[in-house]
Amino acid sequence: MSEKKRILTGDRTTGKLHLGHYVGSLQNRVKLQDEYESFILLADIQALTTHFEHPELLEHSIYEVAMDNLSVGLDPNKITLVQQSRIPSIGELTVFYSMLVSVNSLRHNPTIKTEAANYGYNDMTYGFLGYPVSQSADITFCKANLVPVGEDQKPHMEMTRKIVRRFNELYGETLVEPDMMLSDCPRLMGLDGNAKMGKSLGNAIYLSDPAEEVRKKVMSAVTDASRIKKDDPGHPDICVVSKYHKVFNGGEYENICESCKKGAIGCVACKKALAASLNDLLEPFREKRAYYEAHRDEVRDIILTGSEKANKIGNETVKEVKEAMHIYIGD
Ligand code: ATP
Ligand code: MG
Repeated sequence: MSEKKRILTGDRTTGKLHLGHYVGSLQNRVKLQDEYESFILLADIQALTTHFEHPELLEHSIYEVAMDNLSVGLDPNKITLVQQSRIPSIGELTVFYSMLVSVNSLRHNPTIKTEAANYGYNDMTYGFLGYPVSQSADITFCKANLVPVGEDQKPHMEMTRKIVRRFNELYGETLVEPDMMLSDCPRLMGLDGNAKMGKSLGNAIYLSDPAEEVRKKVMSAVTDASRIKKDDPGHPDICVVSKYHKVFNGGEYENICESCKKGAIGCVACKKALAASLNDLLEPFREKRAYYEAHRDEVRDIILTGSEKANKIGNETVKEVKEAMHIYIGD
């Protein structure tokens, strides 16, 4: 077994990835790929919890999410891409863990509540309510030590840690309790300024958006509504564009805020500067992506090989778990 500690993180295969994913998680994945043995999950089962009526979207998105991860600089020779539905041990662990989790703790999970409201669920499915349990299986099948994710994942991480502790307490030290790693920007707002940027919320700039599309989206961002004329003093503290400058154009942030407060820079110029910074960041990703778009078979092989490797590890973990639970009687 490798000496390195392990990372498990991933994305639902519900569409292309956006800037929120990049600053919330992908950036850290890239930074940590040398130091840790990293498993990146293409979470297609978790995608089904909200998108089971749109199967055509899922197959397409498995490739899109894989290519997004590869194009931001994750090296397929270092990291392991894993397709969740190819790992039966995740399903098995989910069933075992479900005995250790109360329905009320899931019902009161703040992320579940927010997402259920966003999707308009009155009577949510068993699969949706239980996805944090399945996520605990994702993290523990490979005994991950660290999980770099966005802020919305906090309650799920707490649940995973609780399950691990409960399991180890009941059946003996078997599972590894993982740590969560939040980025400097754990929650990027959408350009509408209303909610976090989300694939399913229609307020995202995608990592694969062409430069012109990025410009258009930035120009349509909501700014300080009290500012009518260009030289009216602005209020950067309530403007979503200024928040983006802080994240993506840090060197200029203070200057831009000062100029805005004095009415020396208008919203149009401010947005143009932001679009330029974003396109500088995204351009190298677009180039890498073009390669993978032209080599889809290579992407498929990376996913299949990675999933096979993960399967061996997951099967070992399930065996240990069954032994600990006294339900394993041999091969
Ligand atoms: P969906 O709307 O389908 O749930 P999503 O945009 O929330 O999509 P996920 O696949 O659920 O994306 O999340 C993948 C990872 O990206 C998680 O670690 C999540 O915390 C992080 N993430 C997603 N959106 C943001 C955001 N706006 N800011 C920071 N991190 C984010
Ligand atoms: Mg989500």
